[in-house]
Amino acid sequence: MLSDRIQVLSESMTIAITALAQQLKREGKDILGFSAGEPDFDTPHVIKDAAIKAIEEGFTKYTPVDGIIELKEAIVDKLARENDLHYTTDQVIASNGAKQSLFNLFQSVINPGDEVIIPAPYWVTYPEIAKYSGGIPVIIETDDKTAFKMTPDQLKNAITPKTKMLVLTSPSNPTGSVYTKKEIEEIGKVLEGTDILVASDEMYEKLVYHGTCFTAAASVSEDMFHRTVTINGLSKSVAMTGWRFGYCAAANKDLIKAMKKLQSQSTSNVNSITQIAAIKGLDGSADADIEMMRQAFEARCDEATSLFNSVSGLSVVKPKGAFYLFVNHKEIEPDSMKFAKSLLENSGVAVVPGAGFGSDGYFRFSFATDIDTIREGVRRIESFIENYDKR
Ligand code: PMP
Repeated sequence: MLSDRIQVLSESMTIAITALAQQLKREGKDILGFSAGEPDFDTPHVIKDAAIKAIEEGFTKYTPVDGIIELKEAIVDKLARENDLHYTTDQVIASNGAKQSLFNLFQSVINPGDEVIIPAPYWVTYPEIAKYSGGIPVIIETDDKTAFKMTPDQLKNAITPKTKMLVLTSPSNPTGSVYTKKEIEEIGKVLEGTDILVASDEMYEKLVYHGTCFTAAASVSEDMFHRTVTINGLSKSVAMTGWRFGYCAAANKDLIKAMKKLQSQSTSNVNSITQIAAIKGLDGSADADIEMMRQAFEARCDEATSLFNSVSGLSVVKPKGAFYLFVNHKEIEPDSMKFAKSLLENSGVAVVPGAGFGSDGYFRFSFATDIDTIREGVRRIESFIENYDKR
């Protein structure tokens, strides 16, 4: 009954762990959750107030598919002001989360057999939407020795005449690594003279720590500006996951038009109220709230990293951004699904197995939760490891 197309999609491995955590909770077990991919903070007031006003003023009808002009102008202004990227309003589109922007992009450019280069560990969705679009994910493996960053040589070796696109995620989910400007320039040099597109997922742009500078991939050269499709949104850095707002910017207006066409035949516009709220998330009105959240994440990042690095058998590269630790547990157990399942069943701690991100032997631990829960979580993980062989 089901289409061939839908059957190439895998269900996320994290679902199995989440379902098990929920079942154990229902049974009354004391479960600590570190698998969440969203901030524990509430959306800033200035954004909520704008949304309430929009409702009261009756801004509740269909809008243009790609977003109201005021929103598209706010996206254009944000990219110019903060990233030195200069687009016009017909080079941007607002979508229902960055996820839809990515889906629109893959569906609009990938032909059957096209190769999509994805460095691992990767965010789970990329290989799935590549496959769904008829493409072939080409995975470049990285590990903690290079802080999970792909080298220019690895990229060079992965390119074939079928390569259509490279996916870059900086800061990264799940590792928190951030490419420097120089590293992105080097990647850009490898791509020069090819037709390869870059999908640059910049969702965690504002969550960078200890003086780390974020560099937008499209900003490093004229050549990169033309080949890069910038994907961003407000879910992570402005705590707006449930509002469903993301956006995409590309030099190529035909590509934006194609994405708009697809969106017009599927979901249409982003919720009208969210659009009004999103303007406040983009125009600087929420900057003090964003900085407050960033500082809180930075303090947790410091403490959680040193707690994990003091546990015998575990190691973690200190993240430069995002809100995850990608913890190496290979010394204790190479199979991440087995480790995560056993940790949950025996110690009531939910983490996401690294295999789901294409890198076995690690788990992803989200520090988007309060510091006391983090301390208790690490304490339980430590005692779980001390007793691991005995089980
Ligand atoms: N990109 C990355 C790297 C993410 O981690 C996520 C959310 N987990 C998204 C995109 C999608 O975000 P949104 O809520 O805007 O769809």
